[in-house]
Amino acid sequence: MVWITKNLIVDEEACNGCGRCVELCTTDNLVMNEKGLPEVAHDECWYCSVCEEECPTDAIDLQLPYLVR
Ligand code: SF4
Ligand code: SF4
Repeated sequence: MVWITKNLIVDEEACNGCGRCVELCTTDNLVMNEKGLPEVAHDECWYCSVCEEECPTDAIDLQLPYLVR
């Protein structure tokens, strides 16, 4: 199953709930939700890819808008 939170697609089985993506997010855009998954809390994503690159289990698939690809 995947959890879709705005522009992030999170593989629920792969995510271990470590919170690293939340800690490292450049804009404090993420929080951990009640299911232990990262959730976009604000509309402040800079598409820096830090959350995707630093996830230890490769659980995040960042969706880039057409104009920043
Ligand atoms: S860094 Fe990866 S494994 Fe850790 S909470 Fe975020 S999505 Fe889940
Ligand atoms: S791409 Fe960057 S700004 Fe956007 S949620 Fe991930 S770490 Fe935060």
